[in-house]
Amino acid sequence: MPGKLQVTVAKDAGFCFGVRDAIEKARETAEKFGKVYMLGNIVHNERAVADLEKRDVRVVKSLSEATDAPVLFRAHGTVPELWEHAKEQGVEIVDATCPLVYEIHHEIKKLHESGRRIFIVGDHGHDEVVAIQAQVPDATVISTPAEARAIGRVKKAGIVSQSTQMIENVQEIINILMMQVFDLKFVNTICFPTRRNQDQIKELAAVNDVMIVVGSYTSANTKRLVSVAKKLNSKTYQVESAADVKNEWFEGAEKVGVSAGASSPDDLIEEVVERIREL
Ligand code: SF4
Repeated sequence: MPGKLQVTVAKDAGFCFGVRDAIEKARETAEKFGKVYMLGNIVHNERAVADLEKRDVRVVKSLSEATDAPVLFRAHGTVPELWEHAKEQGVEIVDATCPLVYEIHHEIKKLHESGRRIFIVGDHGHDEVVAIQAQVPDATVISTPAEARAIGRVKKAGIVSQSTQMIENVQEIINILMMQVFDLKFVNTICFPTRRNQDQIKELAAVNDVMIVVGSYTSANTKRLVSVAKKLNSKTYQVESAADVKNEWFEGAEKVGVSAGASSPDDLIEEVVERIREL
């Protein structure tokens, strides 16, 4: 087996442009002001967070802890209430909200203004979903087909989705709602980097003997990618770092596909690829 493994890495694996830009803004602000605060982690990846901490990017729980430097609002959006608090307290804000997240906020407001009942296909409690939900009164989050069925009959509904949803999950939920909603308008707000990442992982999982997905166990997006790859290739494994890669996974294998969640930094992906190539 040594030297025979052919490794193909998904072209756009890892950070999406929204997260890359947010990290860049955090670094620049920390350099300019000595430090920058964030309410929660910028990405669901321990390595990326530790790297930012070294660069004086500090995670705090509330705005009141951030008195001596600007606060960065993260890529996946922030509830309006926090924007108002920041303004009242005179906190300087660096807005790193992804333009594609702002587009979801815009679409959900339009749907609400047209008199529709609002649904969001997304993960309960996820920061992006919480901020989308806060843009309008009474939006309901649906995360599973069972939750969609429980909605019952609705006359007029508008639906958006969290940017990182699996297309299959959204399709299944929309199919159910179509049977229950008389006048339904769905705006597909899964962002294009997510769609591209999902497409590439499906292609790689189908043509390789083994599929490796790099990402933290705390990342919902990575979990979804692993499950989609597993359906196409039972020899799919998730790793958090190069140390997790196990020799026995590659017995008899010739081709390996590698992809990563949207929160996995490039150097981590490279380390995993390096480790597989060494086998
Ligand atoms: S996943 Fe999509 S919407 Fe979210 S930050 Fe990245 S590019 Fe923007």
